[in-house]
Amino acid sequence: METYTGNRGLRIEEPLIFEQDSPGRTGVDLSDVPDVEDRLGGLSRTEPIGLPGLSEPQVMRHYTRLSQKNYAIDAGFYPLGSCTMKHNPRLNEKMARLPGFADVHPLQPESTVQGALELIDTLAHWIKTLTGMPAVAMSPAAGAHGELCGLMTARSALEARGDARKRVLVPDSAHGTNPATAAICGYDVQAIPLNDRGRVDLAALQDALDEDVAAFMLTNPNTCGLFENEILEQAKAVHDAGAFFYCDGANFNAIVGRVRPGDLGIDCMHLNLHKTFSTPHGGGGPGSGPVVLSEALAPYAPIPWVVHGDNGFALIEHAADSGESEPYGRMKSFHGQMGMFVRTLAYMMSHGADGLRQASSDAVLNANYLLARLSDTLSLPYEGPCMHEVLFDDSFLKDTGVTTLNFAKAMIDEGFHPMTMYFPLVVHGALLMEPTETESREGLDQFIYTIRHLAERARSGEADAFQEAPVHAPRRRLDETGAARQPILRWRPDITLGEAAE
Ligand SMILES: *Cc1c(COP(=O)(O)O)cnc(C)c1O
Repeated sequence: METYTGNRGLRIEEPLIFEQDSPGRTGVDLSDVPDVEDRLGGLSRTEPIGLPGLSEPQVMRHYTRLSQKNYAIDAGFYPLGSCTMKHNPRLNEKMARLPGFADVHPLQPESTVQGALELIDTLAHWIKTLTGMPAVAMSPAAGAHGELCGLMTARSALEARGDARKRVLVPDSAHGTNPATAAICGYDVQAIPLNDRGRVDLAALQDALDEDVAAFMLTNPNTCGLFENEILEQAKAVHDAGAFFYCDGANFNAIVGRVRPGDLGIDCMHLNLHKTFSTPHGGGGPGSGPVVLSEALAPYAPIPWVVHGDNGFALIEHAADSGESEPYGRMKSFHGQMGMFVRTLAYMMSHGADGLRQASSDAVLNANYLLARLSDTLSLPYEGPCMHEVLFDDSFLKDTGVTTLNFAKAMIDEGFHPMTMYFPLVVHGALLMEPTETESREGLDQFIYTIRHLAERARSGEADAFQEAPVHAPRRRLDETGAARQPILRWRPDITLGEAAE
C-alpha cells in the first residue's frame, strides 16, 4: 500500500537537498555587507551561487536520514566476496583519533613527528614479518595502486638489466584489477586458463612463459576462493623464464599467521590493509595497499621510506639520498595513508600473532560452514574445501526463470547485502560469498535459512516475484548501466527522474 507521503513507517522518503531549497534560508544570521569599494574589478559574481538554503535542523535531518539509508557492515551481514567486509574494531578508531596521529601534517619537520615515523616503521616491520619478505613500500593508496607499484618496480628491475619484456600473464581467476594494472603499465596481457579444479593450469602457464614475459600475476587464494596449491611449481617456472612473480595479496585474510608468502617464491605482493587488517572501506576509500618486495626487487622500491637516522627516524624523500637503491619515483605526493597505518597497527597489536592466526582460521571456517550447509541447496562449480570465500554457480536456478541477479535482489528484501555476483567470470552466474571471521554462528545460520528459503521459492515457480524484487528497498531497480555510461553528477532544476537513471 502506498502512503500519502511516500514514507514507509519511520523510514522517510527523502528529497535531494536541492529540492528542499528555500532561497535565503540559512543556519546563521549574517549582518548585511557594509558598503565597501569593490576591489574585484569585473570579476565579482553576478549570479547566485546555487547552494540550497536550509535551516540547521533541516540539514541535520537530511543527512541523518541519508545515513540511515546506507547499508553498512555496522548495520548487517555483508557477504560481498573478494571484499572482506569485516567488522572494524572501534579500538582502531580510538587510536586513529588520538590528536598526535590525527592532527599531524605531512610537511611537518621530522623532529616533530618522530612518533608517527616510528609507527610507520613498526608497521613496516610487522608487515615484513607476517609476509616473510625483506622490504615494503608503504605509500600505495589501495590494492590496485599497490599492483601498479609492484609492476612498476618489476619493470624497473627488468630495465636495469636491459631487458624490455612486453607481456604479463594473468590467470582467468585473477581479480579484474590485475589485467587492468598490467594494461595501464603498458604490457600486453595474456590470459592463462584454469584447470578443472579451479586452479591455474600449470602446463598452460609453462607453455606461455618465454623471454618476453615480464611477470605472472597470481591471486592467491584465487577468486574462486581456492588455494593455489601448485604455487611453488608456478614460482619455479616463472623464475626459470627470468620473469617476476606478482602475487595479489588482497585475500591475505585467509592465510595471515599461517603462510608466509615470502616462503612461496613470490617477488612482490600488495596487501589491502582495508581488508585483512580491518581498516574501513567501501564507497571509494580511503584504502591502503603496501607492497612487499623480494631481495631482487627491493632496490627499485619507490620513495619515500623511513630510516633510522643519527637523530631518530628520518624519511628518504629523494632518489639522490637513497644510497645504493635506484627508486623509480614515487606513487603518492606524501607518505601513505597515516590513519590506516594507525588502525592497522592497532589491529595487529590488539590481536597479537595468535589472534591474527585465529582470525584467518575463523574466516576459513565460516566460509566452509556456508559451503557445508548450502551445497545441497546451491550448486558448487569446484569441490571444496574452500578458503575464506565460497563460490557457487547458477545451475541450481536452471529452468526456474530466476537469474543470479533476481536472486540477489530478493536477498535485499530479506535484509541482506547480496554476495558478489557474476564474478569470477570463469563460472556461469557466479555467486561468491565471503562471510569473514567476524560473523557469528547465529548470523550465518539466519543467512543460510534465508538462502534455503529463497532457493525453495525459486524452484516452486515464483519467478515473477523475483523479477519484482526488491519491493521493500527505498529504491527498486535502477538503470545501473545508464548511470555508469552517462553519469549525471550535477543537479539541475530541470532534470527529470528519467534522465537521472531511475
Ligand atoms: C579488493 C581487491 C583488489 C583491489 O583492491 P582495491 O583496494 O579495491 O584497489 C585487488 N585484488 C583482489 C583479489 C581484491 O580482492
